[in-house]
Amino acid sequence: MAARARTLFGAVEGGGTKFVCAVGRGPDHILARARFETTTPEETLGRVADFLVQGPGSVGLTAVGVACFGPLELDPHAAGFGSLLATPKPGWSGAPVAATLQGRLGVPVVIDTDVNGAALAEWRWGAARGCDPALYLTVGTGIGGGAVLNGRPLHGLLHPEMGHVPLPRLAWPDGRPDDFAGVCPFHGACFEGLASGPALQARAGVAPETLDPEHPMWELEAGYLAQALATFLLVLSPQRIVVGGGVLQQGHLLARLRRRLPQVLAGYIARAEVQGDAGGYVVAPHFGQDAGLMGAFALAMSAGQR
Ligand code: ADP
Ligand code: ZN
Repeated sequence: MAARARTLFGAVEGGGTKFVCAVGRGPDHILARARFETTTPEETLGRVADFLVQGPGSVGLTAVGVACFGPLELDPHAAGFGSLLATPKPGWSGAPVAATLQGRLGVPVVIDTDVNGAALAEWRWGAARGCDPALYLTVGTGIGGGAVLNGRPLHGLLHPEMGHVPLPRLAWPDGRPDDFAGVCPFHGACFEGLASGPALQARAGVAPETLDPEHPMWELEAGYLAQALATFLLVLSPQRIVVGGGVLQQGHLLARLRRRLPQVLAGYIARAEVQGDAGGYVVAPHFGQDAGLMGAFALAMSAGQR
């Protein structure tokens, strides 16, 4: 027990604009924290590694968890395991994130997608505790989803890419069809193409954070979110869905989404959780904007279990 109490972990949340890092014993016991702008992989990962071996980390870390933007190679048998796959982020395609940190630090590095990490943290300590499968969805610059199934983050052919599911076209509250082309460079009007922050911005012509909470686009947005959540619910049967990300900072949007989801399901799923306003079923992340970083702690703590 005494040795375990002294165990220190490194946590890294890698994003397209910033890397957030921490050293600590877990979510309740963080000793140091830092944030670095995402520049080149060499420079960014170098700063992350420097931070992890300084200060409290200088006594030695047991393991490091990395919850990273994707797409990632997560097949343990693949040569590029722990690297980014082709990404629009300039300079990052093929970047060996896990191998670079492991080489610098000499301790086990556990990597997964940012949203799988967030799902793991919310399942282990947060808003989806005891819920398996648990689903975590972020609606921000992009849209991504992660899942915990049988206590582990879900991988497969690749890893879930829930932001790119196709969605039906919906109508504005006044009945006009939504004819916005969508912003996804691959699919145009997929979920991310229609409902991400940049999609809202392009459709409205102003930043979504400045739109009036009564603007009709929020009802359209809630409709797309409800369609997507219904799809994930029907495929994975999660016990709870956690929805975070910048766009959900619109406090009214969660309530709209909770109202719309049972309408899309139309009574087919005979469970009390998804009747009425689906209030306890669709929830905000316990860790807020820190869900990914806490996910990195959860990943670090899972080292040796895989
Ligand atoms: P990222 O996805 O880049 O990690 P965020 O989750 O913060 O970061 O998402 C950023 C996106 O969320 C931007 O498109 C921004 O316009 C949008 N956004 C941020 N705050 C709000 C807000 N209060 N209301 C609506 N949209 C917001
Ligand atoms: Zn897409």
